[in-house]
Amino acid sequence: MSYAGPEFDPPRRPRRRPLTVALAALVPGALLGWVVYEALGTTDGSGSSDRAAVGSPSATAPSADASPSSGDDEKPSPGPTGGTPSASAVSGPLKGKVVVIDPGHNPANFEHTAEINRKVDIGTGLKECDTTGTTTNAGYAEAEFTLDVAHRMRTLLEKQGATVKLTQDGDRPYGPCIDERARIGNEAKADAVVSVHADGSGTGNRGFHVILPGAVNSGSADTRPIVAPSKELGERIAGNFVKVTGSAPSNYVGDGTGLVTRKDLGGLNLSTVPKVFIECGNMRDSKDAAQLTSGAWRQKAAQGISEGIVSFLRG
Ligand code: ZN
Repeated sequence: MSYAGPEFDPPRRPRRRPLTVALAALVPGALLGWVVYEALGTTDGSGSSDRAAVGSPSATAPSADASPSSGDDEKPSPGPTGGTPSASAVSGPLKGKVVVIDPGHNPANFEHTAEINRKVDIGTGLKECDTTGTTTNAGYAEAEFTLDVAHRMRTLLEKQGATVKLTQDGDRPYGPCIDERARIGNEAKADAVVSVHADGSGTGNRGFHVILPGAVNSGSADTRPIVAPSKELGERIAGNFVKVTGSAPSNYVGDGTGLVTRKDLGGLNLSTVPKVFIECGNMRDSKDAAQLTSGAWRQKAAQGISEGIVSFLRG
């Protein structure tokens, strides 16, 4: 995704926690995430439990194999006790929780430009069904990145007992359209939805940012009930993403907070469940691209996002 769109909402700083704002002004780069994380952790006393929540071979993680090719992703409404869940899906701290991962774009969108350019209703107006996404200068596609991170997240979250559903798994000719992406999360009654992306901005623009839904009440879109929980989800993800990856928040949007609020994204406008986007880095910057094309870094990215989800769901 890029910021070529007509609308951009600056983050609403007054609503941020005073402690975070004050310290964010003083603490640059990677330390910010720690500050965000610590600030959040002190609100519920659960900060120390977050660190080992995901990716740790702790006793809470079942040893059963959570194969990334379980094939359950596209089943409609796979309840935690429905079908034939693996052992990892029926135990763990996220038992009963449903997480929908939305891998941005589709590797085959490039071959279906007519279909993805079809307009769909996002409440505030019409917007293209889907977009191709960006690539690194060397041609590594955002859609490949998003699927890879989604698979890694699925493995991590299933080990925590969550029921995980993907909006697409490279198994469709294109899309889905952004309205369907939202609908999949809604119909799954997801406890949290994360749309995974990487940005296509200018050279020198670096870092990640999490996109939060702004308050929209127009047509079929009414995000008002999800604004607050989505903000909480996004803050947890941002803090944990910094902590695990060591990446700094974006240096080109969000005023160094790693958080941006938007009202022009159909995937957010049409969601009725807590949902955020994350732009994990800028594919068009060579230093960010070196990270985004590294499997080891993508594992950290998946772990950071997943730990944020776990933190949010465990409260
Ligand atoms: Zn994107």
